[in-house]
Amino acid sequence: MSVTVAWHPACRLHDAGAGHPECPQRIEAVLEALRDPALAAEIRWVEARPADRAAIERAHPAAYVDALERLAEQGGGMLDADTIMGPRSWEAALAAAGVAAAAVDEAVAGGTAFGALRPPGHHALADRAMGFCFLNNVVIAARHAQARGHARVLIVDWDVHHGNGTQALVEHDPTIRYVSMHQYPWYPGTGAAHERGVGNVYNVPRPPGLPREVYRRDLLEAVDAALEGWRPNVLLVSAGFDSLAGDPLGGFTLEPEDMAVWTTALRERVVPTPIVSVLEGGYSIDRLTAGACAHVRALA
Ligand SMILES: [Zn+2]
Repeated sequence: MSVTVAWHPACRLHDAGAGHPECPQRIEAVLEALRDPALAAEIRWVEARPADRAAIERAHPAAYVDALERLAEQGGGMLDADTIMGPRSWEAALAAAGVAAAAVDEAVAGGTAFGALRPPGHHALADRAMGFCFLNNVVIAARHAQARGHARVLIVDWDVHHGNGTQALVEHDPTIRYVSMHQYPWYPGTGAAHERGVGNVYNVPRPPGLPREVYRRDLLEAVDAALEGWRPNVLLVSAGFDSLAGDPLGGFTLEPEDMAVWTTALRERVVPTPIVSVLEGGYSIDRLTAGACAHVRALA
C-alpha cells in the first residue's frame, strides 16, 4: 500500500514576518522529512494546481475572496493580530486549498492521501481570516468531495486548537460531521461540549497535561459516537501536530506514535472509505516532522 502526498511549491511563499510561528520552514521541513529515502517506496507524490474560484466559493462568499485578492494586489496587510498577509501569501493560500482538493481527488481514486500544505485553514471563518488561516482548506476539501458525489463527510480534527472556522462552516449541515479534540479553555475560545450544531458536531474539550492515553482514547470515543448509525463516504483529518508534547502553542502530551495509532484506528473504523488528511498546526519543527512522518507512514 502507498499514500499519495499532494503538495505545491507556492505553500512556502506565505511569510507572516520574522518570528511568526507559522513560518515557511514548517512546510520545508515536512517535505524534506517525507522525502527521506526510507519513505520513498510508500509515497506517491502529486503536485497540485492552485484552487480555482469555484472550489473556494463552496466555502467562502465571493465578496470575501475578492477582498483578499484586492489586499494581495496591494501587497498584503494585517487581517487580525496574528494573521498577516505578505506580498505572496495569497499565492500560498490558493496553493494550500488546491493541495487539499487534489488530496481528495487522489484518495477517492482509491486509497489515502496527505495534503502537505500551509497556511493552515481550520480557524478561517466564511468571511474572516483568523488564527494564521485565510481559507478553510478542510471545508474546501469536504465540499469538493461532495461536489464529486461523495455525499457524507466526516472531519476529524486533532489540532490542539478548536477548529472554530470548520465548526461554523458545517454546524448547520447534517451531511458533514465534525469531531474535534482540543485544549480548552484555550485559543480561540470555542469548542465546548455543548456546541453540537444540528447534532453533527462532536467537541472533546480537554485540559492540558493529561496522560496521553486519555487523549488517545477520548478522541476515538467521539469518533465512534459520530459513526454510530452513520457511514461517511470520505473521512477528512485536520492533522495538527501542535497537540504533540513540546509544542510551544499547546499543552497536550501526545507523541508521534499516538498519531500513528489514531490513523490506523480511523482506517479500521471506516475501511474502505477514502481518507484524506490535511496539515493544520504544529509549531515545533522537530515535533511537526516526526508527527507528520508517523501519520503518513500509517496512512500508507
Ligand atoms: Zn493549532
